[in-house]
Amino acid sequence: MNYHQYYPVDIVNGPGTRCTLFVSGCVHQCPGCYNKSTWRLNSGVLFTSEMEDRIIADLNDTRISRQGLTLSGGDPLHPQNVPDILKLVKRVRQECPGKDIWLWTGYLLSELTPAQQEVVDLINVLIDGKFVKELADPSLLWRGSSNQIVHKLR
Ligand code: SF4
Repeated sequence: MNYHQYYPVDIVNGPGTRCTLFVSGCVHQCPGCYNKSTWRLNSGVLFTSEMEDRIIADLNDTRISRQGLTLSGGDPLHPQNVPDILKLVKRVRQECPGKDIWLWTGYLLSELTPAQQEVVDLINVLIDGKFVKELADPSLLWRGSSNQIVHKLR
């Protein structure tokens, strides 16, 4: 998996203070997408085990308390990203007690593959669906267009 950005302290992509990872790779090609540079799977830089360790350490950093981890992109549920995302969310569950995981995807919850669902089974909140320019509304919380749904899973 490749990623574009990692913000160790972020207050805009989900509730509270968070660690946020924007991964590379998205097949949805939504007109009006503001993250077009993330569409290619091989854009950005390689997500290494050192990066994974850093996220776990940042989430457990007691000097700056984080509510949890945000996974966005690109699409964290792009089939080629799923193995690395699954490994990461499993580690967060095991090594970062009390931290929540929010994930944004262009897929619909109802159409996930078993592998994608395995990731979703471990997260707290899924915001699903493509960005639809005609339904865009800047007043919406955590979503760009009104077709997208904030699923509180646990
Ligand atoms: S799902 Fe998100 S990143 Fe992918 S094309 Fe749509 S708006 Fe862009």
